Amino acid sequence: MLIATTLAQIQNALAQTRKQGKTIGFVPTMGALHEGHLSLLRRAKKENHVCILSIFINPTQFGPNEDFTKYPRDKKKDVLLAKKENIDIIFYPSEKIMYPPGYLTYIEVTKLSDVLCGRTRPGHFKGVTTVIAKLLNIVRPQTMYLGEKDAQQCVILKHLVKDLNFATKVIACPTVRETDGLAMSSRNKYLSSTERKEATVLYSSLTLAKNEIKRGLRDAMKIRYLIEQNIRTLSRGEIDYVACVNAENLEPLTEIKGHVLIAVAARWGTTRLIDNVSISVK
Ligand code: AMP
Repeated sequence: MLIATTLAQIQNALAQTRKQGKTIGFVPTMGALHEGHLSLLRRAKKENHVCILSIFINPTQFGPNEDFTKYPRDKKKDVLLAKKENIDIIFYPSEKIMYPPGYLTYIEVTKLSDVLCGRTRPGHFKGVTTVIAKLLNIVRPQTMYLGEKDAQQCVILKHLVKDLNFATKVIACPTVRETDGLAMSSRNKYLSSTERKEATVLYSSLTLAKNEIKRGLRDAMKIRYLIEQNIRTLSRGEIDYVACVNAENLEPLTEIKGHVLIAVAARWGTTRLIDNVSISVK
């Protein structure tokens, strides 16, 4: 397994790969790898000749009061896990390589970046789209694998790829959960044991809502109310938003119809967690 830290290293390795006519599957991450990340790597490995994992804690996607400095970093463990999965290349650039002095260019997917998480995290998705555009230009993969856990990110990055004509297919993979339903996240490490127990309310509330939809409830406001009430009754989590939106364009719904994304964000102390489910309704 090659650990490429410079542009020359990654580009030389990939030039060889392309010359041999091999396909490249790409999984961008911020490290602190867990089973969620590994599921994407396994899929990329299965569907491509070569699998590239990038690990870069992207400073431009963190707000001034967010957790950039305390975001979990464990290079040793990440390298071990990647080796175990037979990953071909880890791209592990420094901040200086991604944003050298004098860096000026940012990419923004408008509209979609301002709703849901974009409301409380202004500039977050601009950082995400900028770093992913750069990584796609560096790696030029046939396919990029993302997690449905970050549903808004998937919608935005699919738009980015389409709008800027990147020759990359984007595949969204199912959310991997702990046995009690909590979506795996590098940020779960921040939770105290009480908070960790309470955080299961996110998925249980989403599941409750999904079951109500299956039983015929179509009023989006009632669905949102149901989720909010459940979270407030069963936990001390502070709700950031509960939304029922069109899963393709993220527009808010009054009636549950079509491909629907039900998304939540809530905070326990300074730890902000997100989760979502989707459902197709005729
Ligand atoms: P991150 O390191 O948090 O930036 O995540 C890197 C990629 O892994 C993103 O595409 C995430 O959506 C995906 N991911 C994170 N958690 C999970 C999970 N529990 N299940 C599936 N994919 C995930």
